[in-house]
Amino acid sequence: MPTTQVRACQTCKSDEPHRHLTAEEATWLRDKRGLRDSDNTHDWWKCAREGCRTMRHYWNHSQWEQLPPPDED
Ligand SMILES: [Zn+2]
Repeated sequence: MPTTQVRACQTCKSDEPHRHLTAEEATWLRDKRGLRDSDNTHDWWKCAREGCRTMRHYWNHSQWEQLPPPDED
C-alpha cells in the first residue's frame, strides 16, 4: 500500500498528497471527536503539504479537522 494518497485538501483548495496519521495525531483526533479506542482512525489522512495541518476522512471530504499549531517553546 502506498504511503501517500492524493486527495482534495480543504485548506489547500487543491489535490495534495496525504499520509496516514502519526500515533500522536490519531490520539488528538480521538480526543477531538470523542472516538472510542475501538474506533479506528485508519480512514483519516493528513495533508502532507508543508505547513498544512489539515486532516480529512478518506471517503468523506466534508469530514475534516484542523490540527492546532505546534507548541512553540
Ligand atoms: Zn492541505
